[in-house]
Amino acid sequence: MTWVPGAAGSGYGVEHLPYGVFGYGADGEHVGVRIGDRALPLDRLEQAGLLDAGGVFSPDGGRMASLNPFLAAGPDVWAAVRDRLTELLTDPAYRDRVEPLLVPVADIRPRLPFAVADYVDFYSSEHHAGNVGQIFRPGQPPLPPNWRHLPIGYHGRAGTVVVSGTEVRRPCGQRRPPGAGQPVYGPSVRLDIEAEVGFVVGVPTALGTRVTADDFARHVFGVVLLNDWSARDIQAWEYQPLGPFLGKSFATSISAWVTPLAALSAARVPAPPQDPPVLDYLRESERFTYDLSLEVEWNGTVVSRPPFATLYWTPAQQLAHMTVNGASLRTGDLYASGTVSGPSRDQTGSFLELSWGGTEPVTLSDGSQRTFLEDGDTVTIRAAAPGPQGTTISFGEVTGRIATAR
Ligand code: CA
Repeated sequence: MTWVPGAAGSGYGVEHLPYGVFGYGADGEHVGVRIGDRALPLDRLEQAGLLDAGGVFSPDGGRMASLNPFLAAGPDVWAAVRDRLTELLTDPAYRDRVEPLLVPVADIRPRLPFAVADYVDFYSSEHHAGNVGQIFRPGQPPLPPNWRHLPIGYHGRAGTVVVSGTEVRRPCGQRRPPGAGQPVYGPSVRLDIEAEVGFVVGVPTALGTRVTADDFARHVFGVVLLNDWSARDIQAWEYQPLGPFLGKSFATSISAWVTPLAALSAARVPAPPQDPPVLDYLRESERFTYDLSLEVEWNGTVVSRPPFATLYWTPAQQLAHMTVNGASLRTGDLYASGTVSGPSRDQTGSFLELSWGGTEPVTLSDGSQRTFLEDGDTVTIRAAAPGPQGTTISFGEVTGRIATAR
């Protein structure tokens, strides 16, 4: 039990301790952990002699603070820092020295928590892939023939990953309107979301080596929520034969707080069975996923509750597949699960599915109707997972508002 007032039972108790980067006052940037509605700047903790993490939390020469040095330090350092923070935030003997360092979360300015190295996005929900297949390729088998043999993915644009709260400008591009023979240029008229879970790589690998599924936790540090904003009209015209390109690369939003895998031990659940059996390199000695319940809110109305644990391919299998060709990992690599959609319509993670290709509008609580995003709309994705001893792990939200195209 932590001594921080209000933290127990908040979803940000001492069993959680997610990491982020933030500005505060005129004080520069800090790497910190969240506890309740407070943030603890870890460079300050090191300066006070209360934490020894080898300086990984100190902004380097006035440059922006970043989680990357800590991510690169590996599982032993991750565990040692977590143990020490738990001690400092639970033992009342430290309260007098630690409490003055806490700052209100309401007063901080969240930054992108780590420098994104490479960004990969998978396509691992059978329900999502099946729905998209029916909508985009009616009359054909919804799943491509390779789908049950490998986790399909594509490389996205790392430089346009932004932190939650960043405005998302409606993209312009080339699309071919329904029934038209020729494409036109202009703002996307089918702007959408994809509710996903992102995995943050800490420990890099050498080029030419691979990571087994069972080595997942030796390389992956933690989890963020992710919104893969998608311009469906641009995507539908451009994606064959090489996959998503400009319909996705204009912005990808992630939550400001990275939840360490260490906080998710109570959320581990068996992953769905796979048929046909997978090739050896995709086998896990213990096949598991995480019981994350997502929630998608559109202008204040909860429109969907996607269940992460239904995904066919697990994050460990995705990591094994991503490296099986010898492609190296870098600290700060981010790979996303793919849209999380459950079996029912109100569990789908995209508005493409929720409105069934724009044919069945969604009614929001103010009575307005939507198929795709309008300018000024705000989408917020939240998630929760079971924590130890009946607690809850609340993921930070990922939110964004749509700005008019220019
Ligand atoms: Ca996606």
